[in-house]
Amino acid sequence: MKFAVTSKGDPTSNTLMQKVRTYLADFEMEYDEDKPDIVISIGGDGTLLYAFHRYKSRLSKTAFVGVHTGHLGFYADWVPSEIEKLVIAIAKTPYQIVEYPLLEVIIRYINGSREARYLALNECTVKSIEGSLVMDLEIKGQLFETFRGDGLCISTPSGSTAYNKALGGAILHPAIEAIQVAEMASINNRVFRTIGSPLILPNHHTCMLKPVNDVDFQITIDHLTLLHKDVKSIQCRVAAEKIRFARFRPFPFWRRVRDSFISG
Ligand code: NAP
Ligand code: MN
Repeated sequence: MKFAVTSKGDPTSNTLMQKVRTYLADFEMEYDEDKPDIVISIGGDGTLLYAFHRYKSRLSKTAFVGVHTGHLGFYADWVPSEIEKLVIAIAKTPYQIVEYPLLEVIIRYINGSREARYLALNECTVKSIEGSLVMDLEIKGQLFETFRGDGLCISTPSGSTAYNKALGGAILHPAIEAIQVAEMASINNRVFRTIGSPLILPNHHTCMLKPVNDVDFQITIDHLTLLHKDVKSIQCRVAAEKIRFARFRPFPFWRRVRDSFISG
């Protein structure tokens, strides 16, 4: 079996990365940065986001596992002191796999046949470059509302504990194949009206954002921020692909939520 290790880059994570590489080599596992069967991410949730994007072209063949060197993470749920245990578990394949839904984002441009497709593990956010964001929001091809405000956040279930949570969105269990649309400071008065509540859309319910005036936007996909010009539409739905996590011991999602936000 082939493995790769990614590190946050700080001394603690780097030392641990070397340790994991040596241990797994001792178990006669092969280090392969390009085509790993398992990726061990050492650092935090941000490190796992980075690892996901590095290996997103081979999601069906790669499993991820996260170790946190800072605070407990949602993706990084092993502590450094458990590293020996983890390495032995990895070497003693087969392991259990847990799959989490992803978000597919397709951006189409004015006057162009070109389109850009992205996969997000946490979320996609859309903000204007100047002034309020004004967007028609369609659900399954029907106009739902015209949004005016700071921006919109469309998240995955596992991303629901990140930016989405800060916006008052619900926490979704990753067994639910859905995406969530959360508002950032919508303008609501006698003229402008939005629903005001986060929306949870099931599989196959496409959410389409269409510019009303301005066509240039700041769009984020997880930690990546890009400026998109001449945007015609932004299409969001549950992706066909999923991320696969290697599971070596039970650590239920709600337990992780409690340990992260209430008390650990
Ligand atoms: P960052 O600024 O270091 O991340 C912000 C925090 O979000 C970090 O504490 C990070 O954990 C945590 N986080 C990431 N994914 C999470 C998840 N699924 N559930 C709970 N917490 C999570 O930047 P980053 O590490 O590159 O992460 C990018 C993410 O930051 C974005 O995807 C977005 O969700 C989030 N973000 C949040 C806000 C907000 O809450 N107002 C604003 C912008 C972006 P680690 O320290 O373990 O990396
Ligand atoms: Mn981070």
